[in-house]
Amino acid sequence: MHCGYAAAQMPTTILIAEDEPAIADAVLYALRSDGYAVEHHLLGGGIVARIERGGIDLLLLDVGLPDINGFDVCRKLRMVSELPVVFLTARNDEVDRILGLELGGDDYIAKPFSPRELVARVRARLRRHATEDHGWRRSGPQQSGRQQSGLFEIDREGRRIRCAGHLLELTRYEYALLSELLRRPGAILSRAQLLDRAWDGDSDSADRTVDTHIKTLRAKLRAIDPAIDPIRTHRGVGYSLDIA
Ligand code: CA
Repeated sequence: MHCGYAAAQMPTTILIAEDEPAIADAVLYALRSDGYAVEHHLLGGGIVARIERGGIDLLLLDVGLPDINGFDVCRKLRMVSELPVVFLTARNDEVDRILGLELGGDDYIAKPFSPRELVARVRARLRRHATEDHGWRRSGPQQSGRQQSGLFEIDREGRRIRCAGHLLELTRYEYALLSELLRRPGAILSRAQLLDRAWDGDSDSADRTVDTHIKTLRAKLRAIDPAIDPIRTHRGVGYSLDIA
């Protein structure tokens, strides 16, 4: 029995959301034969909450679920998790949408598929995810290195921030601003404090500079998902960051 990756005390656990019994049975059998633990859901509704409780390593997600479609499940999931997702799809137009989604390197398998092909794809996706994560974590000690706060994951040494699993392309000052806000989520920082910390006392800067960069930062976050708007404006006081 082998689990594909990681020296395992805990089996690698796959959650499958699929409403067609024949497909679900074949997938469950193939994955269990290969040493994976499997949980099966018929609906999309409880999936994100289940994944948030932990213990799931990959989601196999049927696009055509009876209650919520797989794209919406995945979009909700990406607000809280980078869990690898492999879509199960029966239609070519769905494939086009999956490829257009850019949901963090997710994969798909077109129905009908062979169980062997599915297991191989799952194993490859898990391996890729483990590698990506490893690079990200290799950023040094806890305090100066990687920190996860709800939506955001920051690598201070590499000066990189991910939001909902997406690496943000930030300018130097956008990075510095978001990084300062992430040090104390929920705390209100005045423009003067932000200027002082993020601009390193650069004399050309003014309050309006902070506002401008907050604006571009917000646009970049909304580009990931229009619902992502965690920066709060406190009129006459400053800004804070909601990470919940
Ligand atoms: Ca279906």
